[in-house]
Amino acid sequence: MALTALEIYKHLPKTNCRECGFPTCLAFAMQLAAKRASLDQCPHVSEEARAALEGASAPPMRLVTIGAGEKKKLEIGNETVLFRHEEKFYHPVGIAVEIRDELSDDEVEERTEYINNLRFERVGTEIEVDLVAVRNSSGDPGRFREVVERVDKISRFPLILISDDPHALHGAAEVAKDGRPLLYAANGGNWEQVGATAKEFGCPLAVYGESLEELAELTGKLTSMGVEELVLDPGTRHPREALERLTLMRRLALKKNFRPLGYPTIAFTSDGDPYQEAAEASLYIAKYAGILVLRNAQTWQVLPLLTERYNIYTDPQKPIQVEPGVYEIGEVTEASPVLVTTNFSLTYYTVAGDVEASRVPSYIIVVDTEGTSVLTAWAADKFTPEKVAEMLNKKTNIKDKVKHRKVVIPGLVAVMTAKLKEESGWEVLVGPRESSGIPKFLKAWTV
Ligand code: SF4
Repeated sequence: MALTALEIYKHLPKTNCRECGFPTCLAFAMQLAAKRASLDQCPHVSEEARAALEGASAPPMRLVTIGAGEKKKLEIGNETVLFRHEEKFYHPVGIAVEIRDELSDDEVEERTEYINNLRFERVGTEIEVDLVAVRNSSGDPGRFREVVERVDKISRFPLILISDDPHALHGAAEVAKDGRPLLYAANGGNWEQVGATAKEFGCPLAVYGESLEELAELTGKLTSMGVEELVLDPGTRHPREALERLTLMRRLALKKNFRPLGYPTIAFTSDGDPYQEAAEASLYIAKYAGILVLRNAQTWQVLPLLTERYNIYTDPQKPIQVEPGVYEIGEVTEASPVLVTTNFSLTYYTVAGDVEASRVPSYIIVVDTEGTSVLTAWAADKFTPEKVAEMLNKKTNIKDKVKHRKVVIPGLVAVMTAKLKEESGWEVLVGPRESSGIPKFLKAWTV
């Protein structure tokens, strides 16, 4: 757990000499606690204090990087809080899709291409999966190596190599090493061999333990071998037990600073009913997988899971915003409707989608409300008649684009009608309260 300013202060010289650029040692400690200063700025810290402060300020959960070279890299771990509202989550869960090596060569290629194309657009952002997990389901090391080589050539994503057989894992790691795959997994019986493979090829390594005690013991052994980038499998596929262990591991790492479990985790969905699989995946995205491996990954499963991840891993203090300005939807003319909304991404894209659905080409004026939605912005004085009037008459060229002077405001802020008319000189029409009412509203539009 991160140290408080007072805990840091106890280790500082307390001379208030100002050489660090801050007026007192306490002020410097406060900046250090907020991670806005570096310990190196104080030239007077003793070696003991430095060791204590650097050790304690190491992140409670290690950062692990999978992938290298031309493949998209995935970083997981380095989280600092249990709940998003305490600060934010830093590294979104990596979503992997499995390919079994008992498939034919054509099927392997087809599935790899399918995974390459699992990407969607959500409120103006592209969302996609992150990893391909190749499983040695055939039990044949030669076939595993062949399939890994084939997938590695086609996949845009880094790989997870899954095998119980250390010999098979070594062969596959050898052909895929340049892409820095995650090797799965070291366990109580094979950790020396698999750990040696991870070390030889410089790959991150997953660790499987039947219990948290076993996991902690294994991470100790592997780190003393020099294998530092570890990913922990809680050792159960039962969703309730897995949730319990993932939560305990996260608590122990972040709240108790228990280093042997201070690594990101990996969870697997079960191979059965696809609805059950989607429910399990959703659970693990919420709490607390670092990587989630999907067995099937049909489009209807993947899109809501990527959306869930996107929502959870959005910084709650930085709403996703679109640029303020004029947006054209469809083949607009000088008679097209002009609608106003806020720059909260979700609001804008919902309105834009409904305008598109109306098939009435329109202009949308997006007002800078610091990424807040209509009612929130209104309540916080960020969506005011003055700001809207400024967008209509000064900050955009909408007056050159349309001949009429009619603007549609969201029904939720009907209360600004009179003031906006007075400020802007535009005729103000009150639109629907919900965006879903826009198509019907626009179909009745006349200039
Ligand atoms: S340089 Fe070190 S001793 Fe001097 S004020 Fe800053 S923290 Fe205190």
